[in-house]
Amino acid sequence: MTSGLRTVRTTCPRDCYDACGITVKLDGDAVERVLGDPRHPVSHGWLCGKCAVGYNGGWRDPGRRLLRPLRRVGPKGQGRFEIISWAEALATVASSLRPILDTAGGEAVLQTHYTGTCSLIAGNAPLRFFNRIGAVEVDPDTVCNKAGHAALGLAFGDSLQGFDPRTIQDSRCVIVWGANPSACAPHVDRHWLHDARVTTIVIDPIRHPTAARATLHLQPFPGTDAALAFALLHVIAREGRLDRAFLDAHTIGWAEVEPHVAAATPEWAEGLTGVPAALIVTAARHYAAGPSLLWLGQGLQRQRFGGNVMRACSLLPVATGMIGKPGAGVLYLNGFGGRGIDGDYLTGAHLCQGEPRSISHMDLAARLEDASASRALFTWNNNIAASSPEQARLRAALRREDLFHVALELFHTDTVDHADIVLPAASFLEFDDLVLSYFHLTVSAQVKVMAPLGEALPNQEIFRRLAGALDLTDAALHEDDPTMIATLLGQTGIGETFASLAAKGTVDWAPEPVMQFADLRFNTPSGRIEIASERYVAAGLTREPRPSWEARPPAGMLRLLSPASEWLMNSTFANEPRVGQALGARAALLHPDDAAARGLAEGAHARLWNATGQLTVPVGISQDVPRGVILAPKGRWPKLEPGGANVNALNPGDKTDIAESAAVHSILVHVELAGAPAAAAATGAALSGRR
Ligand code: SF4
Repeated sequence: MTSGLRTVRTTCPRDCYDACGITVKLDGDAVERVLGDPRHPVSHGWLCGKCAVGYNGGWRDPGRRLLRPLRRVGPKGQGRFEIISWAEALATVASSLRPILDTAGGEAVLQTHYTGTCSLIAGNAPLRFFNRIGAVEVDPDTVCNKAGHAALGLAFGDSLQGFDPRTIQDSRCVIVWGANPSACAPHVDRHWLHDARVTTIVIDPIRHPTAARATLHLQPFPGTDAALAFALLHVIAREGRLDRAFLDAHTIGWAEVEPHVAAATPEWAEGLTGVPAALIVTAARHYAAGPSLLWLGQGLQRQRFGGNVMRACSLLPVATGMIGKPGAGVLYLNGFGGRGIDGDYLTGAHLCQGEPRSISHMDLAARLEDASASRALFTWNNNIAASSPEQARLRAALRREDLFHVALELFHTDTVDHADIVLPAASFLEFDDLVLSYFHLTVSAQVKVMAPLGEALPNQEIFRRLAGALDLTDAALHEDDPTMIATLLGQTGIGETFASLAAKGTVDWAPEPVMQFADLRFNTPSGRIEIASERYVAAGLTREPRPSWEARPPAGMLRLLSPASEWLMNSTFANEPRVGQALGARAALLHPDDAAARGLAEGAHARLWNATGQLTVPVGISQDVPRGVILAPKGRWPKLEPGGANVNALNPGDKTDIAESAAVHSILVHVELAGAPAAAAATGAALSGRR
């Protein structure tokens, strides 16, 4: 028991570029307020709205959190449970899982997880358990950013080594392509991006706040990014700004793209992309003058040809030699491996017997429908009933009585409603861990500031107990948190103990800005950046990147974009009443011309539909959305929406051109005034022919 007023520093571990520093005001052991840390180099003393609301609301409210293990007593999907003890819960999981493992093996057990918390141990150490039992992982990145990782990995040998944001001190131009920092990196947006010395160029179909504030906003129609990238390269080549020496020394395959570059004039691109040719020329000149940074957003690759798009856009720094020099570079994400963390240690890779098994999120519903292929399911750190494609089909599969489903959660989500056993997870305020931002090259302490609510436990402790219940004795399954934290800190080489790091909150991994690809050696077979090769063909792409594009939607249809909103973190916070108020009822926005063509006024209810499903929502009208597009941000909880569904009801689970990743920004929908008769009877046939 501690007495008196005090302040504890910790770190936000959400799926967010910012990794904000937090100060928690306590009176004795009671948390009074969760605030931004004024000394943190990124957050400068404030939290985003959603976290300020959530961390001072439902996250500390015993009336809203899951407090005790639960066992289902009603039909699946209704969310009716009885409280049981931890001993009973663990025994039930063990007795249900053992015969499945004995007869069908781990391949009959599916496990889905993602970024419910991004702290190192809670986000990764549970994989030790699943590696040991040989479960099938639903590849987490396939619901988000896998195509980008695959494409950039083939080109550069590593998609997780981005520029150090501190290098902006030497930059004169930053391009942000396919990201909305105002929503997904609000502190980076406010304090880093809009440096007065830097020309900011935002390339995005939506005129979001970051785009509106940028020096230049290029607004291509969705699906035309590769054509735009080649047009920028055309200008750069035409004006003699290619770095031939860099291309000759450090790349292979440039000659194969040169004919495409030569053909991709700005005038040609204007017709396809809708971006004025003069603006393409201006942007290309700023970038080529450099030094320039290129930030490739995760939204950029969530389209049908996402792999080709990432290859095309990443040619900009390659062609101009904006790599391996101060103020230059490209960023997708900064992984923890670049800061010394051994992912195999963290996830217990050695526990896996045979080849790791995985499937794409795009195949999850089909896999769960198949009783012979899936007999048990673990969901942890994610909310698949809200966030995965084929929502109606998936929810029907989750209602299978013969599927044994264990859910780890903090809140009573739609996914929890379908579980057989619910295990209450502790929040980040309730245990120690480490956080490594995926933007800044920092290392931060996540510090326990309060006891877990009820009987909640950290993810890693739950899996230690499950391992015990299954009589699994491998040392890695029972390693305690202090030992793991000390080992991980040792791997980073920052020379901090957890106590010393906790006192500082966040430290830079290296004292000076780290130069990306400083030695100009790339982890590819050739040791160079590989622009064209047969490896791409083996992965399902063309040898060289191409200035290809997706056709505009057929008459009457709109292209559906479902990016992040500033008020939701994936599906986290959607159950906060104040967040719900901030989100408002308007679940979709469209251009005034598209609204007028459909007789939709501000606030009218529109029916969105395609062959996969339908959704009826109030719409708003905005010039920020281009013609031909409807914007419906992701993350609302289906059960809190009037129709019991969110935007993923319209998501067919189509895959990108590489890595079986989500092509969620290529979805087409009909939009009409709710109550109007269906526009076409043979909708399924019409839609099935579009791809
Ligand atoms: S979600 Fe992002 S912006 Fe919000 S407090 Fe956490 S790290 Fe900061």
